[in-house]
Amino acid sequence: MTDARPVRKVSLVIPAYNEEASLPELIERAGKTCRALNREYEIILVDDGSSDRTPELIAEAAEDPEKRITGVMLNRNYGQHAAVMAGFSLAGGDLIITLDADLQNPPEEIPRLIETAERGYDIVGTVRAERKDTLFRRLASRLVNSMITKATGRRSGDYGCMLRAYRRHIVEAVLLCREHSTFIPVLADSFARDTAEIPVGHDERKFGDSKYSFVKLINLMFDLVTCLTTTPLRLLSILGCAVAAAGFFLAFLLVFLRLLLGPDWAAEGVFMLFAVLFIFVGAQFIGMGLLGEYIGRIYTDVRARPRWFIRKICGKGPDRIPDEMNIIVD
Ligand code: UDP
Ligand code: MG
Repeated sequence: MTDARPVRKVSLVIPAYNEEASLPELIERAGKTCRALNREYEIILVDDGSSDRTPELIAEAAEDPEKRITGVMLNRNYGQHAAVMAGFSLAGGDLIITLDADLQNPPEEIPRLIETAERGYDIVGTVRAERKDTLFRRLASRLVNSMITKATGRRSGDYGCMLRAYRRHIVEAVLLCREHSTFIPVLADSFARDTAEIPVGHDERKFGDSKYSFVKLINLMFDLVTCLTTTPLRLLSILGCAVAAAGFFLAFLLVFLRLLLGPDWAAEGVFMLFAVLFIFVGAQFIGMGLLGEYIGRIYTDVRARPRWFIRKICGKGPDRIPDEMNIIVD
């Protein structure tokens, strides 16, 4: 285990996309928890291009120096993980904690995360004890989590839960990664030596709806899988070999049966051939789709466009100077 070092300063990084209803309570509860920590802290609220009053509320809260809030306004919606990255790039704490703005992750759990991190862990993950989400979301999560466990051999339970604490060096490592499609908990885990996991509470979304549509969710799932491993690409060739072998076998069988049963039988086998063809075509499309998922992501990374633009920073200002990827416009 890494040396157990005390945490001197904590940074909270919270992405918010159209969360005007939750923000006042979030700011209140997070502030209260942080004040009770008896150490330095900062709260970085990243507005991910909201169209409601979220940026105004953040700017307002950032005006009060007592609250130690830095507001980071992205110029459009880049997605939750890009928003967290933008927050990371400005975070100055030696422990950085991410959580959702919708209050599904109770800020009151933060002291326990810090306590666990201080015992010498690079990352403290959390498992939602009693998850308050729809059945579909829970089942999808379970599938993805078990896939990750199989692919990585790590026992980690709940990658979907964004209430997590990262040591400074892990965040630095994550910031060095220039990829666009990213899933921060998985990426961060790949640089960690010692990770811990603690059970935390999970609340129902009190205000508004989930900001993830079905399509966004599927995209996130592919981000997670492609961020983690290229195993599906390998599976593709294995699947291809298996399908080709089955094809050869079927062809021999058909020739054999044709010789055995005569030409009349073979004519009726036409439909069978179609069926076989469809199986092959189907398998190819699955394969090509998967390839496409990787290639699409490679394409975006090769273009190396900036991953976000910060429109404005308000409040006490950042502790660190963002590097050239995070150009400030406006
Ligand atoms: N979020 C974001 N940009 C997006 C979608 C979501 O910053 O494009 C934020 C959102 O405001 C919330 C967090 O990411 O703080 C998690 O989103 P949500 O609660 O909608 O996801 P769910 O709990 O349904 O997984
Ligand atoms: Mg939520």
